[in-house]
Amino acid sequence: MKSFIKPINYEKSKTRKWKNDIGRFENMTYLQGEDAYLCANGRKLKAERTYQSKTKTGYKSEKTYYACEDCTGCPMKENCIHGNHFKKPMEERTKHLTVAKKFLRQRQEDRKRITSEEGIELRMNRSIQAEGAFADIKADMNFRRFLCRGTENALVAVDLLAMAHNIQKLHHKIQHGTASRHRIPVKEAA
Ligand code: SF4
Repeated sequence: MKSFIKPINYEKSKTRKWKNDIGRFENMTYLQGEDAYLCANGRKLKAERTYQSKTKTGYKSEKTYYACEDCTGCPMKENCIHGNHFKKPMEERTKHLTVAKKFLRQRQEDRKRITSEEGIELRMNRSIQAEGAFADIKADMNFRRFLCRGTENALVAVDLLAMAHNIQKLHHKIQHGTASRHRIPVKEAA
């Protein structure tokens, strides 16, 4: 199964603010052979260690910790090192990054897929065909969550919702006298 879903940061990553943020590893040059990032000041952030992390929901991932070899005297520090909750003064601070490589790789593959010709077509069709029905079911019919467990039961619930949605659409068409004609006239075949 291939996903064609926009990464959560997709829209944000197109903004000028994001693109100009020199503190983001996405805006640094990755040096494949050395497993290091090259920052805006031409210094290297080398991989120092990896560790396992676990989210509150139990998702486990491996993260790599990168630290800059030397940030002393860097005139870009204020724009590169974020966060004001450190006791150390800015002059003594060093830039570091944490990257989940597997997650990053999957996100890059996902981005490639959604910006491909096939991905653009699929996304366009989804917004035309599925999003409206999804919004009607969620907001108008107030369907916020499944009340049953198991794939089979959830599928039955989806089928019932789809039937209810289609009956509602048909009802509207009958009310507006458009049930027996196409919304956009069908072109005659040549
Ligand atoms: S603060 Fe460090 S990592 Fe950031 S640009 Fe300066 S030297 Fe590079």
